[in-house]
Amino acid sequence: MSNLDLPVRYIKGVGPGREKILNSIGIFNVLDLINYFPRDYENRSVITKIRNMTAGNKVTAAVKYTGRYKILKPHKGLSIAKVYINDDTGYATLTFYNQDYIVKNFVSGQYYLVYGDVDISFGEIQIQNPEVELIKGKLSQYLHIYPIYSLTKNITQKILRSIVKEALTYLDDVKEILPPDLLDRFNLIDIRTAYENIHYPVDMEYLEKAKRRFAFQELFEVMLYLNILKLRRNSLNKGILFGLCDEYEFINSLPFKLTNAQLRVWREIKEDMESDRQMNRLVQGDVGSGKTVIAAIAVYKAVKNNYQAAFMAPTEILAEQHFSTLNALFKGHDINVGLLTGSITPKEKDKMLKDIVEGKIDVVVGTHALIQDNVVFKNLGLVVTDEQHRFGVRQRSMLEQKGSNIDVLVMTATPIPRSLALIIYGDLDISIIDELPPGRKPVKTYLVEKNMRGSVYDFVKSLLKKGEQCYVVAPLIEESDKMDAISVEEVYTELKKEFMDYSVGLLHGKISKEEKDYIMHQFKSNNINLLVSTTVIEVGVDVPNATAIIIENAERFGLAQLHQLRGRIGRGDKESYCFLVMGNNITDVKERLKILTETNDGFKISEHDLKLRGPGDFLGYKQHGLPGFKIANFYFDSKILDNISMAVKYFVDRYGIYSPTTEELIKSIEERWDFSGEEITFN
Ligand code: ADP
Ligand code: MG
Repeated sequence: MSNLDLPVRYIKGVGPGREKILNSIGIFNVLDLINYFPRDYENRSVITKIRNMTAGNKVTAAVKYTGRYKILKPHKGLSIAKVYINDDTGYATLTFYNQDYIVKNFVSGQYYLVYGDVDISFGEIQIQNPEVELIKGKLSQYLHIYPIYSLTKNITQKILRSIVKEALTYLDDVKEILPPDLLDRFNLIDIRTAYENIHYPVDMEYLEKAKRRFAFQELFEVMLYLNILKLRRNSLNKGILFGLCDEYEFINSLPFKLTNAQLRVWREIKEDMESDRQMNRLVQGDVGSGKTVIAAIAVYKAVKNNYQAAFMAPTEILAEQHFSTLNALFKGHDINVGLLTGSITPKEKDKMLKDIVEGKIDVVVGTHALIQDNVVFKNLGLVVTDEQHRFGVRQRSMLEQKGSNIDVLVMTATPIPRSLALIIYGDLDISIIDELPPGRKPVKTYLVEKNMRGSVYDFVKSLLKKGEQCYVVAPLIEESDKMDAISVEEVYTELKKEFMDYSVGLLHGKISKEEKDYIMHQFKSNNINLLVSTTVIEVGVDVPNATAIIIENAERFGLAQLHQLRGRIGRGDKESYCFLVMGNNITDVKERLKILTETNDGFKISEHDLKLRGPGDFLGYKQHGLPGFKIANFYFDSKILDNISMAVKYFVDRYGIYSPTTEELIKSIEERWDFSGEEITFN
């Protein structure tokens, strides 16, 4: 056992009480403490002389107590203690509010290190509510960058700092897991120096180096892991070899002509399918770029080669939609499509399972019900998963295990910059549909202040009058969180009155499946004119007659998500309109959302989002079924992403995919990361 596994109570200063507190924030052993990274830092490495102090700045100063203080009580409930201090450049006061007892701690003639905000009033320099420490011995030992940790009740910054400092004495037990030549080549500091400096940086430069080392390591490990998976799989050379067939006849029978981008992506898929390598391909395409039909062609090819296909969607609404799309596309082509979701009756389900195992069904569309044990295929050859970001890596591989070496096609409508895609989808080859079908009109997007809702409603009425439809999206909100947002229920109640002459529907994750299906169906057939909904409708839903969307509290959504929501409209050839209603902080929100009014290009928007907020959102566990990043979410420079790809390539070239160094690193990654992915929830 390594010292790193020692329970925290072995650390000096941690008794049973503090152990409980630490446990409550997920800290159980020494390693956890070392891994409890500061959320911020205070630079107290430079002394400011009193003469140089200016109002509004935070300063560190070394001062002498003059022995004089004053306590003022300007009114009931307020007392101000002023402690007079000086240095060799002038005089100042330390000002404390309602903390009179503090003055007793000062000893006349002693030197103190103080840290606080400067204020100047009537020519008097004041340091407000400073942190104070008696200087014992050398001043230099106090001058450094201080970590600021996230705290929990009953533990102070000072205590946590000293506990972490104790834990750092066990640093020698931490093993370096990246090979030295890699560290060298990519300018990374070693792991122990990195840990020391992430907690107690010797200077700002080393703090940056420490952050870079950890961010690099996180991204590198994930990309390396997924890449090794891919390379090992490919080295087996044991995929299904789908033969040539008449898929171009099928393509010519489609009601529209494929775009050049669709054709190019289809050729990439076809090449995979016709090779003896297993296909593992991601198709990225903006909303409305026509991914479904590409998947349908792949399904066609698999079925004409006497294999079955499975088509997995993240929600029932989407599964049903794909079911009916495939049925329409395959009409007259002798392909049997089945549907398997959580809400079909047990009897229907038994029948469906039987048909699947007997091979009577050629392609089965479903939700994650597809990955359950009782679903057995006769001859599964192709798996398509739509809207990949809702599924975890594990869920995908569970479906793959229902056949042997089957081809896999993953589709996502979340455009992400290529450098990031390479990391997140490191186990997949990537195809991009970067063109929309002709005739699409870009959605006209407007930022709207709350008090302008009335005119938006009037405008929407004019659309409904023409027989068109509208979505209204609002966050689903718990009572406790109501402060500054409006809930779907409230919006619904309001709009039923406002749109009295029309039929208004309500959709959110808490209503029953049957009702949800019914409402969606009613909307699709235009029996509901205006649909109030949560983000349930976010992905994939296709109702071309809907030409407007109003999004309430738009500031609560990410740019990519807003773009997805907006993708629900503009799916036909009619002019469409998106209204983003801003609830709060209008100026900031306007600045952030402006890009949506300027472009309809999802890749541009995500590139912008990445610059604005760093990769946190893209790399988030929830969205990609990937483990949570600790540092990479906050520390980011665009160069690092390119470096990661280079480092992975370097590592693979140098160490191969099965060497002891590789095995060891992969094992260590598997121990520390959880690739199991999130559960699918229907919100
Ligand atoms: P997404 O990529 O968002 O999943 P879909 O596959 O749902 O997009 O396609 C959106 C709409 O565009 C569908 O109604 C589909 O029939 C239509 N479509 C797809 N490809 C073309 C094309 N090449 N020309 C015209 N319409 C197309
Ligand atoms: Mg789709």
